[in-house]
Amino acid sequence: MSILDKELKYLPGVGPKKAELLNKELGLETYRDLIYFFPYRYIDRSKFYTVKELHKDLPYIQLKGKFLNFETTTISRSGKKLVGYFADDTGVVEIVWFQGIKWIRDSIQLHKEYILFGKPKEFLGRINIVHPDIEDVEKWKTQIAKNLYPQYSTTENLKNSFITSKTIQKLCETLLKEISGKIEETLPLNFREKHELLKLEDAIRIIHFPENTEELSKAQYRIKFEELFYIQLNLLQIKFKRKKNSKGFTFDKNKDYYVKQCFYKNIPFKLTNAQIRVLREIRTDVSSGKQMNRLLQGDVGSGKTMVALLSILMAVDNGYQACMMAPTEILAQQHFNSIKKFLQGLDLNFKLLTGSTKKKEKEEIYKELAEGKIHIIIGTHALIEDVVEFKNLGFVVIDEQHRFGVEQRAKLWIKNKIPPHVLIMSATPIPRTLAMTLYGDLDVSVIDELPPGRTKIITKHFTDKDRMRIFGFIKKQIELGRQVYVVFPLIQESETMDYKDLEDGVEGYSRAFPPPKYSISVVHGRMKPADKEYSMQLFVRHQTQIMIATTVIEVGVDVPNATVMVIESAERFGLSQLHQLRGRVGRGSEQSYCILMTADELSDNAYNRILTMVNTTDGFEIAETDLKLRGPGDMAGTQQSGFSLNLKMADLSQDGQLIQYVKILAEDILNDDPELQKPDNTIFLKQLKIINRGKIDLGIIS
Ligand code: ADP
Ligand code: MG
Repeated sequence: MSILDKELKYLPGVGPKKAELLNKELGLETYRDLIYFFPYRYIDRSKFYTVKELHKDLPYIQLKGKFLNFETTTISRSGKKLVGYFADDTGVVEIVWFQGIKWIRDSIQLHKEYILFGKPKEFLGRINIVHPDIEDVEKWKTQIAKNLYPQYSTTENLKNSFITSKTIQKLCETLLKEISGKIEETLPLNFREKHELLKLEDAIRIIHFPENTEELSKAQYRIKFEELFYIQLNLLQIKFKRKKNSKGFTFDKNKDYYVKQCFYKNIPFKLTNAQIRVLREIRTDVSSGKQMNRLLQGDVGSGKTMVALLSILMAVDNGYQACMMAPTEILAQQHFNSIKKFLQGLDLNFKLLTGSTKKKEKEEIYKELAEGKIHIIIGTHALIEDVVEFKNLGFVVIDEQHRFGVEQRAKLWIKNKIPPHVLIMSATPIPRTLAMTLYGDLDVSVIDELPPGRTKIITKHFTDKDRMRIFGFIKKQIELGRQVYVVFPLIQESETMDYKDLEDGVEGYSRAFPPPKYSISVVHGRMKPADKEYSMQLFVRHQTQIMIATTVIEVGVDVPNATVMVIESAERFGLSQLHQLRGRVGRGSEQSYCILMTADELSDNAYNRILTMVNTTDGFEIAETDLKLRGPGDMAGTQQSGFSLNLKMADLSQDGQLIQYVKILAEDILNDDPELQKPDNTIFLKQLKIINRGKIDLGIIS
């Protein structure tokens, strides 16, 4: 066991109580956790202000001077206030304490030089500083952290127990002394030299106690580099191992029967070049004798489902079962319906299995699946329950991958002796860096072309004062026989306020579009599923012209006749959500429109989102912008994905180049030594073992 595994309660200055708090509030348990608990920012303390320069709009600043005297006043029955008069050559400023008064009075000497660090505020027209950090000038000179002061995240609970950023810094100082020379290096020396990387121990010390920004960036670079490098090495090794070990079913092209039947009889359109290319890629994979693991990315409406269906039929033609898993019931149902259309007249047994399938029917399905009587099963998570057994599952399609974790995927594979081919479809385009980091173990296909005849959706931004014009425009579209979506944000299904917005909105639209000339469907999350379905069906069957909804329609309905998407309070939606919503229109041949209604005043971030929507319809570009604006932590799916993307230092929106670079390095290393058996690579192998402790070995399931 490494000293880094030691529990924090053994660190001098911590003890069981603090240890428990640190664990509960920050998830810090061991020495290792603490040294990897990096500051979230640094404050430059090389600059000193003078008292004369102070005003309330300054950030945290630093003063050098002396206390002239102290005054204590009673402010309430139990409360007291201490004011210290702090002076430098330019004037005097009031320093205020409400707590720890006795301690301050006992420890601070008058007329001795101190350094104060705090935020100037204004109170009754006078500038003061409340509860600053105070340091003795002599001591300050000997401190490790000189100019750059690390700031660590804390919580209210920690602060109430007097564990501040500074406390954490002190603990780090103690800890680094205690484990000095004992932090094991995680990258080989020659590798470090070649890529000019600091020693791990040095990097960690510098990150907690940087002397200057130059040194700090070197240290941060070392940690980032290692973090991204091991993610790539790990993913690529899984991929290498799988390609080497895993046998896969071989599908023979000559057996094409249903593929042809479906293609020639039931598909009324020509496939796009991109669809054909991807089908070829899949065909190559499934005839290679190795298991396929492919990510299929393509914008909403690019025709992924078509590709998936034809691939599924390749499996069926070869005597295997196939399944298609979607993240929601609505989506599973929709896949089922469209597949039904394309399988018309073909003598195939396909079923839908979701959480709400009746018990009796479920049991019937389980039985038929196990006996191999069902060819294709479409469903939700219900498909990965243990009771579900296949006779010979040969092909798995997972839609909207980001909601399923790696381990969940693996659950499907484990059902077979030989793992089925896996096609993962992502409707939300993922930025390259994120894709490389999350799905680096997969091969990637991209459909980068929409079916022909689709005109570009015109997207415009409006505010409330344009409302009459918008209503007029909607009326014209309805007169042309088109249908209209109106979406209201519903950030949380339980938020009463949002419902109020929705209700007011419905009322406004009802007044502007009165019966009998107009009719409106309303769909929202609080409705019973059956009512929701009924309302949607009215719209689908063109019995209503307007559908007012909350984001429940984000994934789900396909109404080619709908040409207008009005998004109310558009500033409250994230970019990928806006993009998904816009994808609901433009599915037919008519010109479609997306109207973004917002308040007059927008934050920079919101304005950027709206602008991006107006300027581009390219899902990949939108995803890149989304990543920049929100950071990877908030990106759809990052949190749910199986790989912990709990990056400590790297930033996917900034470090794209580095990610590509370390990926090439990792590939080179594995090409040369796939099992990492060479002496030079021992450290890599050891490190991967540590990283994968307690996880399923995804590379050797076979
Ligand atoms: P995705 O799953 O990528 O969002 P779908 O497969 O649902 O897209 O396709 C969207 C719509 O386009 C469907 O109505 C589908 O039938 C149709 N479609 C798919 N491929 C083509 C094509 N090559 N030409 C014309 N229409 C297509
Ligand atoms: Mg789809």
